[in-house]
Amino acid sequence: TDIKELLLSRIRDVADYPEPGVMFKDITPLLADPAAFTALTDAFAEIAERTGATKVVGLEARGFILGAPVAVRAGLGFIPVRKAGKLPGATLSQAYDLEYGSAEIEVHAEDLSAEDRILIVDDVLATGGTAEASIQLIHRAGAEIAGVAVLMELAFLNGRPRLEAALDGAPLEAL
Ligand code: 5GP
Repeated sequence: TDIKELLLSRIRDVADYPEPGVMFKDITPLLADPAAFTALTDAFAEIAERTGATKVVGLEARGFILGAPVAVRAGLGFIPVRKAGKLPGATLSQAYDLEYGSAEIEVHAEDLSAEDRILIVDDVLATGGTAEASIQLIHRAGAEIAGVAVLMELAFLNGRPRLEAALDGAPLEAL
């Protein structure tokens, strides 16, 4: 479709970043193009409305840039999921495994309630580890998952099958 081509045309492939052998998908050209950024925001907001989301969760750091305008456009609140140690209030934490080592993400527990249906927004789904840990975090806070929306899915890293059990029928939408 037209929007797909527009979005794809504004993603820059950077070879050997952040380490040799990795082809990094850089979204900064898309952010700098108002037509593309607006089209992306509108597409995510349509998913938020279609899935009955009550709040948008953005994953640090590019999920903040993409998720905040979606929340405003859809008339919803925004909740940041941050790397450990960055949020000042009472948090829930979720650890997850990386290829080498582990990582930990956190959310302010009081931002989420049992009435919430959460749309998780991020730029790239790679192995799915970050999104899976976010779903676990949101479930532990008592809220439901409306879905996961990403700009781009790196299908060869098999994030989608990894997320399926955690999603329990909620959609994973990759634009
Ligand atoms: P995962 O946990 O799915 O392996 O990795 C996803 C996280 O890493 C996302 O938060 C995403 O922003 C980041 N990420 C991994 N690969 C890329 C990439 O090629 N480009 C960008 N922009 N982000 C990436």
